[in-house]
Amino acid sequence: MGQIGVARLLELIDTHVHLADVRFAADLPEVLFRARHAGVVQFVCVGYDIESSAEAIKLSSTFPDIVAAVGIHPNRSGDALPGTLRELDLLSQSHAVVAIGECGLDYYRNTEPPDVQTEAFIAQLRIAEARGLPVIVHSRDAMEQTLDLIEKFNPGRRGVLHCFDGTVADVSRAVSLGFWISAAGQVTYRRDRTLAEALASVPADRLVIETDCPYLSPAGHRGERNEPSRVRLVADAVAAIRGCSVEQLAAQTTANARRLFGKA
Ligand SMILES: [Zn+2]
Ligand SMILES: [Zn+2]
Repeated sequence: MGQIGVARLLELIDTHVHLADVRFAADLPEVLFRARHAGVVQFVCVGYDIESSAEAIKLSSTFPDIVAAVGIHPNRSGDALPGTLRELDLLSQSHAVVAIGECGLDYYRNTEPPDVQTEAFIAQLRIAEARGLPVIVHSRDAMEQTLDLIEKFNPGRRGVLHCFDGTVADVSRAVSLGFWISAAGQVTYRRDRTLAEALASVPADRLVIETDCPYLSPAGHRGERNEPSRVRLVADAVAAIRGCSVEQLAAQTTANARRLFGKA
């Protein structure tokens, strides 16, 4: 019997979008429309300072398929003064908030001294712990230090390493600490084996996907504003690496994201 042409739409969750970015100000409804058409059923809109965190909450009240994460990016950690952290803690109590982040360590751009970054990260791990929320962690050129701090200051140990760009050993340590791994657009343009091997090693119940839009446009779109519809390209690439169908990958990562973020 021939197949009847019923294309079952994949359900994808983009676990890391910056929709409060000014680059989406002019056409956000169209951007969301394209993403939904590509199968995206939920967007985790991530803050990087107080303003973008508050905006993420606002967007979630306008669009029912957006949930919010509130945090201070390591490159903004110089602003993470006690008053700011109190404000963040207040924002974290909004019902739209599913995670604290993004927070972490960035020794690549290194715009803030390591001790300032460390202090801001620890403070946010504590807020996450106190509020019972997972953390969305940004770690660049600082994997060991990042995992050390999680081990020490996040006893609940629930969260995700976003834009993961580490090794098999990093995956193994992060997973043993209770963390999830999030794959982003790098997976579409890397030709070296390290990232592919690392992502292939992630247990099926600990993997999620993201775009980090407007950043990190996948191969074929480099240099353009990235948008959440392209999380499908990430899904395709990760499925190829893991030797599974994109349908399987979508079902797994979507179920994982829902478990990780509760409300997502
Ligand atoms: Zn990041
Ligand atoms: Zn980000």
